[in-house]
Amino acid sequence: MDNQPVIIIGAGIGGLVTALSLHAAGIACDIYESAAEIRPLGVGINLLPHATRELAALGVLDELLPLAIQPTTLRYFTRRGQQIWSEPRGLAAGYHWPQLSIHRGLLQTTLLAITKARLGAAHIHTGYHLTALDSDDHGATAHFSAGRQGPHRASVRGAMVVAADGIHSVARALRYPTEGLPRWNGALLWRGTAIAPPVFDGRTMVWAGHPDHKFVGYPIQDLPDGQQLFNFIAEFRTSDMVLAEREDWNQPGVLSDFIDRFADWQFDWLDVPALIRSATGTYRFPMVDRDPLPQWSVGRTTLLGDAAHPMYPIGSNGASQAILDARVLVGCLRAYPDDVVTALARYDQVRRPATANIVLANRGFGPEMPMKLVQERAPHGFTHIDEVISPAEILQVTEGYRATAGFSLAALNNGNSLADLAY
Ligand SMILES: Cc1cc2nc3c(=O)[nH]c(=O)nc-3n(C[C@H](O)[C@H](O)[C@H](O)COP(=O)(O)OP(=O)(O)OC[C@H]3O[C@@H](n4cnc5c(N)ncnc54)[C@H](O)[C@@H]3O)c2cc1C
Repeated sequence: MDNQPVIIIGAGIGGLVTALSLHAAGIACDIYESAAEIRPLGVGINLLPHATRELAALGVLDELLPLAIQPTTLRYFTRRGQQIWSEPRGLAAGYHWPQLSIHRGLLQTTLLAITKARLGAAHIHTGYHLTALDSDDHGATAHFSAGRQGPHRASVRGAMVVAADGIHSVARALRYPTEGLPRWNGALLWRGTAIAPPVFDGRTMVWAGHPDHKFVGYPIQDLPDGQQLFNFIAEFRTSDMVLAEREDWNQPGVLSDFIDRFADWQFDWLDVPALIRSATGTYRFPMVDRDPLPQWSVGRTTLLGDAAHPMYPIGSNGASQAILDARVLVGCLRAYPDDVVTALARYDQVRRPATANIVLANRGFGPEMPMKLVQERAPHGFTHIDEVISPAEILQVTEGYRATAGFSLAALNNGNSLADLAY
């Protein structure tokens, strides 16, 4: 690596796991983050077993376990609350590693604390907003302004630049200047958390409705009084362009914009409108992604995580795939220690098609397809679910999605950490 550090842009989940993985491989790196201060932003997020396997290999999983819930069941329902399907998740499904439901901010700040402890706080630079990138035969240079709006702050040279700068990636826009805004599919999501008594056994994730009108809920933390912090996403399709105008994870939601759509979602297992009303607030986010790219790695620069492959938040893969990217990237750098350009090209070759398939699968409703089929076939409900859809038809979709996203049970349990493979 020519004794130059790797420059990582962005201290999100992808950037931090990249730094931890490089450090574990003995490769020096520095993170440059746009925000002046890293605050615990966001609401709930899921990490699937293919990602927790990597976090275990990195030695960080044990620190996350007490901060998260390990869901053991996923249950699909109709918008009338009738059960369509139930499947085991994580360890209960036979994986050697759990699924984790966790607050994104807590995940990020915990990874940040571990990164500071392992690399040294001096290797995390805040208030550095990437504005331009150069790459030549001997290294790459990142140019930064002081925060998002400030004047030029510094130009930093390293062995390579890994841009993990999220859905509004500057590195991606520099490479693809005509790409424009993310693509919106017409759905809007309101995300929030509420304190609530356990739903079912307190370890169950629920998906209700269908892709045009949906509620997703799962606990992310046990509270001392027996209650739980319950994460929810209320979603529906609309043509309201004003509501969809900005993909900002921190855009506050307004209750009156969506609560009426869920007024009669009062089930014997959960009163959805009452739960939403009890939340302190919500965040609004349009369901957006971007088309898969023809190339991520150019010379000594590459893209990672949402910067490389923003996808609809369906099937719990956003953070998990960023973690997988980081692990494959480091595996490639270990495989080609004296040839950064080849290592980055190999990373591109492995991860770009894999993640493009997930972006496209999510556009096709991913693992939610059975909910769509049941709504189409039995819009007014059913007496027996078997008359509407068979377990074999559902399994075909869910198993197919697991294979596409890289968490088929046997393949995962029998495989090694992605950072240890021969690339
Ligand atoms: C504030 C915030 C809240 C979120 N909340 C949720 C949530 O509640 N649920 C959910 O499923 N997903 C959420 N996400 C998205 C989720 O974190 C990602 O989909 C996933 O974890 C992939 O992570 P990533 O590291 O690729 O991107 P991100 O987690 O988005 O991280 C990107 C990082 O890059 C930094 N950055 C951006 N531009 C620049 C630049 N030019 N120069 C330097 N640094 C830059 C950002 O400040 C951020 O820290 C959120 C993202 C953010 C940024």
